[in-house]
Amino acid sequence: MPLERLGLQKTTLLDYPGRVAAVLFTQGCPLRCPYCHNPELLQGPPPDSFLPRGEIRAFLHRRRTVLEGVVITGGEPLLHQDLGDLVEEITSLGLAVKLDTSGAFPESLERILRDRPVDMVALDLKTRPERYHLVGGRGDDLLRSLEVLRAWGGRYLLRTTLAPQVVTPEDLDALAALVRPDETWIHQPLREPPPRDGG
Ligand code: SF4
Repeated sequence: MPLERLGLQKTTLLDYPGRVAAVLFTQGCPLRCPYCHNPELLQGPPPDSFLPRGEIRAFLHRRRTVLEGVVITGGEPLLHQDLGDLVEEITSLGLAVKLDTSGAFPESLERILRDRPVDMVALDLKTRPERYHLVGGRGDDLLRSLEVLRAWGGRYLLRTTLAPQVVTPEDLDALAALVRPDETWIHQPLREPPPRDGG
């Protein structure tokens, strides 16, 4: 599925540590988290609020002196074969890229980190690997994605949304045993989706 249209949040001070950033949303996700705030992004055509790639490019070009980075999130960005081209397009404007992923596509993650100038990655630890069926995913993919990040050498952080439907205190204990002491692991509350605005 080519990245012809993207959702845009013009500014965030929260989603890219240390940088003023814009957020781009991609369409499509293989997981089915019961608390998903973006159900319109899971399948089907992009929502009407999504903008053509050219408009996104023009916006980033105009704001390139104000912004310091761009977060690419989803859905699941790694679903898209041309994600690497989007990364190049953004970095050619002098903006750093942070990639958010659920860890569902470890091979694609490895390829893009090897071949493209991604600055930072956020990987979701949704629950302990043995219970990934609760979000429609595979724990093996998560573990492989974690291995890829550890071998990469770039900046990454791990995130767990405290959604009681899928993550219990026992799951958090199991994840704590998985996370290394030198890794950044953020616990975030369930929150409302950020506003998405066009242009
Ligand atoms: S990974 Fe994100 S977009 Fe996909 S189902 Fe879960 S919450 Fe929704």
